[in-house]
Amino acid sequence: MSETTSLLPEGLFAGKTAFVTGGGTGLGLAVSTRLGRLGANIVCASRSIEHHATLIERGAEFGFEVLSAALDVREPAEVKRVVREACERFGRIDVLINNAAGNFIRPAMLLAPKGFKAVIDIALNGVFYVSREVGRRMRDGGGTIVNISAPYAATGKPGVVHSACAKAGVEAMTRTLAAEWAHLGIRVNAVSPGPFVTAGAAERLWPSQEMEQQVLDQIPLGRFGTTDEVGELVCLLASPATPWVTGAVWLADGGWTLPEAMVRGDVGRIDRRRPTDPPPEAAS
Ligand code: NAP
Repeated sequence: MSETTSLLPEGLFAGKTAFVTGGGTGLGLAVSTRLGRLGANIVCASRSIEHHATLIERGAEFGFEVLSAALDVREPAEVKRVVREACERFGRIDVLINNAAGNFIRPAMLLAPKGFKAVIDIALNGVFYVSREVGRRMRDGGGTIVNISAPYAATGKPGVVHSACAKAGVEAMTRTLAAEWAHLGIRVNAVSPGPFVTAGAAERLWPSQEMEQQVLDQIPLGRFGTTDEVGELVCLLASPATPWVTGAVWLADGGWTLPEAMVRGDVGRIDRRRPTDPPPEAAS
């Protein structure tokens, strides 16, 4: 993550341990790096430990500890084992970032039940398994959990019924666990980002230039988000800088979910997207 964008003071997570699912790539890598550079030990948990190489290098470069753990979040027994190993290594877990997910574009009528189930298993059931196991460890001493959602949890979106349903469940889980665990000093929030650039998203969601342009055209601020921008919000919600925020879903989407104009075209010159051309002359 870039130095210039952070509002969070150095050492904010000193002595803390953060468990980040999918922490070796994309948004997870940005969040792990930022939390590590702010002082946290990082438990990076995902299926392929080869995906953790960059984070391990950054840990060595910037002086934070990384426990690289092979974990499929769909397997409750594995989740239990990795959480136990993390606690044995670092003593406790203070921050959990539920970031791992899978997604692809498929119209509902062409989506096989297996495909629907696979996404629900990772992006919804996995979030529950990890939250439950880590929540049990946070019971004494509190902690913060940040789940990664997506705006179509609230709006729906043609082509991603599997992911929309999973993320809607994650938002319901965020509010429910926030209410259930508040008395234990555990805050639970979610960040709901619009399209931001990662290799995974580009490969699965906008694999051609034409598709990328179509997505871009839906974003009023005229550009994709970055992992740094989204990651900063995630770290803010995970930090002691937001002690009274729990059960919240923070949207960061460049206006992606704002409504379209009543009518398109030049009528009254209502532009949804930020113009990249010179502005039209004011009406006389
Ligand atoms: P990404 O780089 O593909 O990250 C997904 C991560 O999840 C990978 O590190 C992957 O690691 C891990 N993972 C996948 N299945 C897993 C499993 N069964 N068990 C454990 N880990 C698993 O994608 P990203 O774009 O950064 O997305 C990160 C989060 O942001 C996701 O929750 C996504 O839904 C959300 N999001 C993304 C966008 C976007 O435009 N990029 C927009 C809205 C929301 P392994 O392969 O090693 O398992």
